[in-house]
Amino acid sequence: MTTATPVVDRPAAEPNLTATAGLADRIARDPEAFRVLSGDRPTGPLHLGHYLGTLANRVRLQNIGVPTVVVIADYQVITDRSDPGPLADRVRTLVAEYLAAGLDPERTVIFPHSAVPTLNQLMVPFLALVTDAELRRNPTVKAEALASRRPLGGLLLTYPVHQAADILGSGGTVVPIGRDQLPHLETARLIARRFNERYGLVFTLPEPLLTGTPNLLGTDGAKMSKTRGNTIGLGDTADRTAAIVRGAQTDANRHITFEPATRPQVANLLSVIGELTEQDPRDVAADIGDRGAAELKRRATEAINDRLAPLRRRRTDLLADPGYLTGVLVDGTARATALTADVLNRVRAAMGMDYFAGP
Ligand code: ATP
Ligand code: MG
Repeated sequence: MTTATPVVDRPAAEPNLTATAGLADRIARDPEAFRVLSGDRPTGPLHLGHYLGTLANRVRLQNIGVPTVVVIADYQVITDRSDPGPLADRVRTLVAEYLAAGLDPERTVIFPHSAVPTLNQLMVPFLALVTDAELRRNPTVKAEALASRRPLGGLLLTYPVHQAADILGSGGTVVPIGRDQLPHLETARLIARRFNERYGLVFTLPEPLLTGTPNLLGTDGAKMSKTRGNTIGLGDTADRTAAIVRGAQTDANRHITFEPATRPQVANLLSVIGELTEQDPRDVAADIGDRGAAELKRRATEAINDRLAPLRRRRTDLLADPGYLTGVLVDGTARATALTADVLNRVRAAMGMDYFAGP
């Protein structure tokens, strides 16, 4: 059994992969032995936190030959709100942003959760493997319930269980995520372990993959998040990006140092520059020194706009072709349907539910 505690693990070949011990090395040795599963809720356009926290890693993994599956978690939109919002538009934008960032629909399966009902069938056996107390302890669920200003609903309480169904039902073994998702991944591992103990070995325990910016902060100093409106959007213009970064909170100390515990907002901008320009944030800080927050923000803006310029151009082009984007989903749904049916068949066989061959 491997440990689920994420530790910084930066092999020379892939400097931006951070994972459970040795994971990046194991993937590099045999990429096809793994499968990436990750996803996003279609609650709004993607932001820099998605890009640096997970999306860039997905693209890297795809490009080194790891089979990759991306679920657009549309059912999970209603975990903390009752209105699903303009889903068709948001889903199309997500697909455009994935492709613009470098996901290749020939190699990567992209599908909307609601179009592949097989995954939800796993909820039933999986719910039987967790207790109410275990679900209530999850700090991310607690935080999201609080932020929603609504009573904790059954769907939010069981969020980690449906996420386990998405991961395990797609055969996912590597899950590139931000830090907020780690408690959910723990539950997915717990469910996989208990299922295997109870019914025989079906699931490989999925492992999280973090980057050097697993919790990118927004302009207000809290986690950058679509819901909080504190984001730098992948689709924002260069000028808008400059204005947003200019308005980001820093602190009163003019001398720039990298101290995440005591100077989180300054450290956040230094990490952004570090991730995007492949430098150690400490070196970036030393280089800026007494030139202060204005220089820090200038460099952050430049790094973001330089990296995102080609992505933004492709995004605009892709959005102009909604028929193509829909086609990507149709194709992804067919592939995901086959993939997940295979897993469900193995689950049913392990549980002795394959007694009926069907019509
Ligand atoms: P919402 O506010 O609607 O929950 P979100 O911005 O939190 O949106 P999600 O769709 O919930 O985005 O998250 C998708 C993925 O992106 C998850 O793996 C999550 O950990 C990662 N992610 C989101 N925000 C950040 C962030 N600020 N830093 C690092 N990773 C992030
Ligand atoms: Mg979220």
